Amino acid sequence: MPLSAAASAREILTRLHDCMAARTPAQAKLNQVVQIIGEAIASEVCSIYLLREGVLELFATRGLAQEAVHVTKLAMGEGLVGTIAQNTEILNLDEAASHPAFAYRPETGEERFHSFAGVPIIRRERAVGVLAVQHADPRPYADVEIEALQTVAMVLSELIANAGLIDGGDAPGRPQSTAPMRIMGQKLVDGMGSGYAVYHQPRIVIEHTVAEDTEAERARVYSAFDRMREQIDRMAAQAEFGGGGEHDEVLQTYRMFAYDEGWSRRINEAIDSGLTAEAAIERVQQRTRQRMRQIDDPLLADRMHDLEDLANRLLRTVSGQMGTAAQSGLRQDTILIARNLGPAELLEYDRRRLKGVILEEGSLTAHVIIVARAMGVPVLGRARDIRRQVAEGDLLLLDVGEANVFARPTPAMEEAFEGKLQLRQKRKAAFAALKDVPPVTSDGHRVTLMVNAGLRDDVHALDITGADGIGLFRTEFQFLVSATLPQRERQQRLYRDVLDAAGQRPVVFRTVDIGGDKALPYLNTSAEDEENPAMGWRALRVALERDGLMKAQARALLEAGAGRTLNVMFPMVSEPWEFDEAKALFEAQRSWIQARGRRLPAAVRYGAMLEVPALAEQLDVLLPRIDFLSIGTNDLTQFLFAADRANPKLAERYDWLSPSILRFLRRVADACHAAGVPIAVCGEMGGRPLEAMALIGIGIDRLSITPAAVGPIKAMVRSLDRDALRARMAELLGDAPPRTLRADLSAWAAGAGVELA
Ligand code: PEP
Ligand code: MG
Repeated sequence: MPLSAAASAREILTRLHDCMAARTPAQAKLNQVVQIIGEAIASEVCSIYLLREGVLELFATRGLAQEAVHVTKLAMGEGLVGTIAQNTEILNLDEAASHPAFAYRPETGEERFHSFAGVPIIRRERAVGVLAVQHADPRPYADVEIEALQTVAMVLSELIANAGLIDGGDAPGRPQSTAPMRIMGQKLVDGMGSGYAVYHQPRIVIEHTVAEDTEAERARVYSAFDRMREQIDRMAAQAEFGGGGEHDEVLQTYRMFAYDEGWSRRINEAIDSGLTAEAAIERVQQRTRQRMRQIDDPLLADRMHDLEDLANRLLRTVSGQMGTAAQSGLRQDTILIARNLGPAELLEYDRRRLKGVILEEGSLTAHVIIVARAMGVPVLGRARDIRRQVAEGDLLLLDVGEANVFARPTPAMEEAFEGKLQLRQKRKAAFAALKDVPPVTSDGHRVTLMVNAGLRDDVHALDITGADGIGLFRTEFQFLVSATLPQRERQQRLYRDVLDAAGQRPVVFRTVDIGGDKALPYLNTSAEDEENPAMGWRALRVALERDGLMKAQARALLEAGAGRTLNVMFPMVSEPWEFDEAKALFEAQRSWIQARGRRLPAAVRYGAMLEVPALAEQLDVLLPRIDFLSIGTNDLTQFLFAADRANPKLAERYDWLSPSILRFLRRVADACHAAGVPIAVCGEMGGRPLEAMALIGIGIDRLSITPAAVGPIKAMVRSLDRDALRARMAELLGDAPPRTLRADLSAWAAGAGVELA
């Protein structure tokens, strides 16, 4: 049993080094390799499978029947070996046959062996083979043994690529076809753009994996770390966006990783095992990737992407191949392609030349998406395999709204795309022209249109759209994009900046809605096994129990609002007493600030969100206590129908224009009007023209919506005869309502000349 991973890997690498340097044919080398590894880790079987003509072929073995060499073949995904290659994952099993993917191959004579461990041999991020060991004893392999195997697998990838033994291992990004092709993805930042494919980073191919001089390799890594840290510090100092804020926080996350002792230690250990600097970094990165795959928490996975971003940077620094496409100068119309992109990497690009970004991975909450939105660059994510389908220089038509990209389009496709793009731009220009026009209905009723926001850069939306204010500022966004809990001062700075930018226009700050599915990695708010996180321990339920968090936020808000009117809103209020407690907590902080002679807001207005149906049964109790009510239709409808808002199977089942929702909302609106309490809707429903029209038709004249919807909704409002609509809605919601009002309302709007974009 080896003493340590480094010692055992080092011994193997020294022997492999000699074997690789010898002038023997590749097959003889492989035969030697399985002997060396088998002896070094005292394994009864050691086998190498390589990908040839799309199948994994047994190329060399010590311990299995020699007749099976070049005979035993497994498809990708078939058996344990195929599973390892397909998922680029490690398997470590004390009883191989009990794994569901186990496929018995009689010609190998492997029935004697029980335990099995295998690691993928990776070239350019894809598995090109598998290295496996087996034992007669049913025992799991120790971590040090697995790590030694992974290190050896890296060296093997160099050997087999040099010997030309594998399928197209050195032809990344070569398209499988040059025909036009449509590639689907996920909508991350909406928009359209056409341009030529540019790879963010031609992958660095590691030429040498076994070190000649370990100390020299260590020195190279140290110096690369120094240079990388300098770069990150410089970027943080120059952060162009918003002069601080979220981007600042992103860079802080980078900094945290760049100075992380654990990371540099692991790379150092890999160097100790005999690898070159490049191979050591890649080796640690491979392990990180494997871990990442096992992490379910999307927020934590995003942080891991940040780390991977830095690892790539380090790899480029150490190998002297620094240029990303950003540094080598972009062509005029570029669509950038990357497996994933770090926010700082995106910030390096000239945004005028960047027409879009396509990621193989990516998720809505990733930092890079926040940055892309701020830069106004459309992003398509989860475009699986894009790097295999698209070559550098291919023309691409990106349409994120349709969640797709066309590669190598025909002239007819280009023409259709251009037409759609122009139409979109025309429409955008028409909506922009409405910026200073008030949203007044054709019969003279003023509607209030506010925007939903949550990030520092979102406040620009106020000026761009000419909205009346921010009707929902989701304060948890700052928490979600931070690597650490934002301290009170940082919260206060953000709130003050938002209020400054809004000027005279009101801003409604919603206290944090975290917990449940919006778990924060640094804050233990989520009971991990909550079965229904949306109905779980979240929002006000967390805030009232963990009141330290809410107290800090209350002080940050009250101090930021000094001298002005502060609007505070509590999420997920289910019963009136919850509102009372939250308000009391704020009032106590107000007294605390006052007692210290500090400036307070001129007025504080407290509101509640109505998202939980139960609250509607106690409006008589609640309304006299609150200053305003805002309906969160996203949550409300899921609770009203008992239909998970994130479940795609239910997405089409219940309509926002169903009589149940509209009658419910009308009842709440009537109660508010009778009590003289202002009422707004701040869920997504209000951002859709027909739905917004229906809301106005039941007496709701205040909407807080996504900024992109302000233009279309304003156009709808200005073409609407509100009183006529109210009369029609009263009829439709009367004695025999249809299953949904959608068709009737569309027909009415068409007849009445209402503009529905
Ligand atoms: C809502 O539930 O409608 C709402 C506005 O809040 P969120 O989408 O942030 O839950
Ligand atoms: Mg909600």
